[in-house]
Amino acid sequence: MKQSTKCIRAGYSPQNGEPRQVPIIQSTTFRYETGEAMGKLFDLEAEGYFYSRLQNPTCDTVAAKICALEGGSAAMLTSSGQAASFFAIFNIAGVGDHVVSSSTIYGGTYNLFAVTMARMGIEFTFVDPNCSDKELEAAFKPNTKAVFGETIANPALVVLDIERFAKAAHAHGVPLIVDNTFPTPIMCRPFEWGADIVTHSTTKYMDGHGSAVGGAIVDSGNFDWSAHAEKFPGLTTPDESYHGITYTEQFGQGGAFITKATAQLMRDFGAVASPQAAYVLNLGLESLDVRMRRHCENAQAIAEHLSTHPLVSWVSFPGLPSDAEHERASKYLPDGSCGVVSFGVNGGRAAAEQFMCELKIAHIATHVADAASCCLHPASTTHRQMSDAELESAGVKPDLVRFSCGLEDVSDLIADIDQALEAAAK
Ligand SMILES: *Cc1c(COP(=O)(O)O)cnc(C)c1O
Repeated sequence: MKQSTKCIRAGYSPQNGEPRQVPIIQSTTFRYETGEAMGKLFDLEAEGYFYSRLQNPTCDTVAAKICALEGGSAAMLTSSGQAASFFAIFNIAGVGDHVVSSSTIYGGTYNLFAVTMARMGIEFTFVDPNCSDKELEAAFKPNTKAVFGETIANPALVVLDIERFAKAAHAHGVPLIVDNTFPTPIMCRPFEWGADIVTHSTTKYMDGHGSAVGGAIVDSGNFDWSAHAEKFPGLTTPDESYHGITYTEQFGQGGAFITKATAQLMRDFGAVASPQAAYVLNLGLESLDVRMRRHCENAQAIAEHLSTHPLVSWVSFPGLPSDAEHERASKYLPDGSCGVVSFGVNGGRAAAEQFMCELKIAHIATHVADAASCCLHPASTTHRQMSDAELESAGVKPDLVRFSCGLEDVSDLIADIDQALEAAAK
């Protein structure tokens, strides 16, 4: 199936007389006729549902669709993108371990890694995604367990050289985890370039209507945990909290990672997606292919318009031929990148804030990737916890306006931007 077909068909095939839409199984528990049958589920010896903190049929159906779109071997939903990022790393790294991460990542993820997970005893080294091979090599330590980056960084719009980062990770016997939120699998499939695990904030384009916070983790099934067994004992040695099962033995290379994240992390942390939220996410997924193309088209037209605008100091959009990211974008994102354009308003920080107030169509919102256009000034909002030096290394200028192009008619959006730029310049 092509991607646009998978958006509608993957994960759920109703049989004769069954509902067209994915049923919302709004139930915490599931009934069994014998204690023994349920015992087998508890021991992960049989497949089935017993408690929705671990797994729920509606959530699994939607996860299967995302898995098919990414071309993975297994997937799970989480309550948010933050939970997905946390689980993806914590599933293979613990106290005393180390992770290499791109420095240009979402502000919330940076905080999760640099502050909260650091407090759990996991050390992160942040590298410029455009660093030299030597600098990238120097970031690894004997206790490194993973490499992390974003396909297109939010909000810096830096495109990760997935192949290069995957090669470096694999040379050190660890997986590359890629947050593919901005392009979605419609515009880029990181597994095709060597990434091993993909994470998503489904809150963004996948949902696409500002309706439901959510996340997803997808495993490619390509990383051979057993070949690096000494680095990943959680996957390759018996889990005493699960009656001594060994995930790689019982669930194979394609199933071990997601089964462990579900059976252990979801059991203990409970960051579960609700069936209602999964249903809403699935409605968004059905139109993802059509919407992504329109988001990208609108962003391309707006970026081109802004790039010659006298009241705009700079524009960053991977689709612009003059953009520093254009070459990598042409390789990894040949059909379009995303709907987010970053730019600087003449007059700096104050002018940027005034510009946003003058907009009549686009909302000011802590959100991107929505059918409704919205914009944000990261330096005073999402990234306000960062120092100027940290902002610089995250690729966020103080005058940066992040404009998320929605699905409105692009001529209306451009007219709105033009009047706001003129009003802000007065
Ligand atoms: C929003 C976002 C997140 C966090 O997702 P939530 O669903 O808000 O928890 C992670 N990564 C990227 C790239 C994001 O844009």
